[in-house]
Amino acid sequence: MEYFDTHAHLDDAQLSGQLDAILTRAREACVAGIVTVGTTADTSATCVELARRYVGVWAAVGIQPNHGRDATPGDWDRVVACARDARVRAIGETGLDAYWDHTPWELQQRLFADHIQLAQATGLPLIIHMRDCGQAVVDMLAGGQPGGALRGVMHSFTGTAAIACECLALGLHISFSGIVTFKKSTALREVARLVPDDRLLIETDAPYLSPHPHRSQRPNEPALLPHTAQCLADLRGVPLARLAEQTTANARRLFGIPGGGC
Ligand SMILES: [Zn+2]
Repeated sequence: MEYFDTHAHLDDAQLSGQLDAILTRAREACVAGIVTVGTTADTSATCVELARRYVGVWAAVGIQPNHGRDATPGDWDRVVACARDARVRAIGETGLDAYWDHTPWELQQRLFADHIQLAQATGLPLIIHMRDCGQAVVDMLAGGQPGGALRGVMHSFTGTAAIACECLALGLHISFSGIVTFKKSTALREVARLVPDDRLLIETDAPYLSPHPHRSQRPNEPALLPHTAQCLADLRGVPLARLAEQTTANARRLFGIPGGGC
């Protein structure tokens, strides 16, 4: 049995100093693959380095919407250059965020459009962040890909069933983080029950969002991913092994990463 963590920030200062131990614990927990996700030009470059250095780690490159305000045109060029590396398997994290107002909305939209275009040019899937703006994200994705199926994942999904359905109709995968295990996430668990088997993904978003019953553990790390898998298996009424196998196969297919063993 093996798991695939589709979203972690291994470059984060809370994790980077102890990566050898963290990746050993991940392997012991049968987490066989991890996508480490950049949020700026600098962290994107670091994620590429980490993916080159560590077996089982792949990179995503992009400028997260909340970091858009501080990005220079040169930063975007660096992301585009990084995207050519063979260890890069996705474009992101990108998307829109209406919760924090760090980056003006028009700039967020322009950056998101650039990421959608880069994903199309490279053939890589998108890793999409959305906070309090599901419809705006869906509208931009639908506009950016007239007629064709989109490849990508809605990361740490917290939207409604209606938004999930629109994302699925666009061809996207839906990924759940530790948030789905939280006591108050009853509505989100209902959404997680609806996602078809072949579109379901799991992630830690480490160092953030430690799953229940380790919610107080800081930082979160990939080795805690099985708790989120167990929650999803329980609510979907399938054995944990099947949930792990299905979500890992989905991740490998989406990111073009061949199978291994644990
Ligand atoms: Zn993230």
